[in-house]
Amino acid sequence: MDHDLAVIGAGVVGVSCALWARMRGLSVVLIDPQAPGAGTSYGNAGTIAVYACLPVNDPSVLRGLPGLVFGGDSPLALDWGHALRNPLWMLRFLANCRTGRSDEIAGHLAMLLTQADAGLNPLVAEAGAEDLLVSRGQLTVWSTRAEAAAADLSLNRRRALGVEVREVSPAEAREMEPGLVLPIERAVHFPGARHVLDPQALVLRMFDRFVDLGGVSVRARAERVEERDGGVTVFADGEIRAERAVIASGAFSRRIAGSGAERLPLGTERGYHLMFEGEAGRVTRPVGWVEGGFYATPMAAGLRLAGTVEIAALDKSANRGRLAYIARRGREMLGDLPEPASEWLGYRPTMPDSLPVIGLAPGKERVIHAFGHQHLGLTLGGITGRIVADLAEGRAPNADIAAYAPGRRFS
Ligand SMILES: Cc1cc2nc3c(=O)[nH]c(=O)nc-3n(C[C@H](O)[C@H](O)[C@H](O)COP(=O)(O)OP(=O)(O)OC[C@H]3O[C@@H](n4cnc5c(N)ncnc54)[C@H](O)[C@@H]3O)c2cc1C
Repeated sequence: MDHDLAVIGAGVVGVSCALWARMRGLSVVLIDPQAPGAGTSYGNAGTIAVYACLPVNDPSVLRGLPGLVFGGDSPLALDWGHALRNPLWMLRFLANCRTGRSDEIAGHLAMLLTQADAGLNPLVAEAGAEDLLVSRGQLTVWSTRAEAAAADLSLNRRRALGVEVREVSPAEAREMEPGLVLPIERAVHFPGARHVLDPQALVLRMFDRFVDLGGVSVRARAERVEERDGGVTVFADGEIRAERAVIASGAFSRRIAGSGAERLPLGTERGYHLMFEGEAGRVTRPVGWVEGGFYATPMAAGLRLAGTVEIAALDKSANRGRLAYIARRGREMLGDLPEPASEWLGYRPTMPDSLPVIGLAPGKERVIHAFGHQHLGLTLGGITGRIVADLAEGRAPNADIAAYAPGRRFS
């Protein structure tokens, strides 16, 4: 066998799996046609969002669906053609918005989130990347009375799941973030959150350390995997043989034939960002604006406005309307902004129950799935990597991972 483990996909999830496994002494090959962290892991809002245990699947989605989808000013956009071509995913997603189910999902997300730092910090230390992380928490603001009043329910759900929530007055919120010009009806600070000054740089540092430790990198697209001769063969511009393979190709994981991922209901929630060079000082920590549906995050390269959700196909071109929405509402949030230096579309890998898929592929003995981290891949990549390293070593993870099993029911 050439390697103990072949990891397919070098986003934050795949690189975390590869580095954890290498730190445990396994021989690992990491396969990706792109540079590490160049996919969705490049352009996210950069928040280590340990407070984000409430899934998008929420009863309010059912109540607010018509307004959200048809309102031009909505952070959520739906491509109806795509929805009609994927009715099962849509129906499963909506079925998971029922109150009881949404609470169950929140509990499963909270379980992973409580271990997020324990999964990420050893990788950051190993990679010498402490300078890329900032510990100033996250500030969430509400700009309308109706949404502010309705927030008690979600804040109490978070508290009940162990999230530290600090209610701050609108005046205190303005003191914390004087750059905000939007009306503030309510604000909370999540002190346990951190942010990353450059999400791709973090992945690259971890990748460099992986290579320093003797990890092997192959720049190729994996087309297919096959379990045979007591191992797995990955077909990627030639054959790569390993004891086990990990599918960590984010929203594209279904495209790898023979992996078992092609049979799972993996969808995507597309999201966008705009970068404003020289404007990082507008905020001092990630600020999430609930009604706007995006974050303002101070990064090394400037201010990043990132977020919104667009349910549309992976291969559809970027929607200029979504970018214009963020630009317009960004000015409502922060006042005048210059023209953005760059813009970006990314693909959150999302299962209809908003839970990641971590575990052995159904019907396989040697193929491990690690994708579907939706809005939380940067936060949960590290703990996913640790669990995958456990599975690759053949030992039981010290967390119950049944809720994330690839073979679970999705509605
Ligand atoms: C706007 C936006 C804001 C976000 N904000 C946050 C946030 O603040 N905090 C947070 O925790 N998360 C956030 N996320 C989510 C997070 O970015 C994702 O969950 C995460 O990046 C997914 O990582 P990944 O490694 O699974 O996928 P990716 O980063 O997409 O990596 C997948 C890799 O697989 C490779 N690949 C694909 N097909 C193949 C193949 N056939 N063979 C080999 N390689 C292949 C790709 O080239 C890519 O490098 C945000 C997402 C968006 C869109």
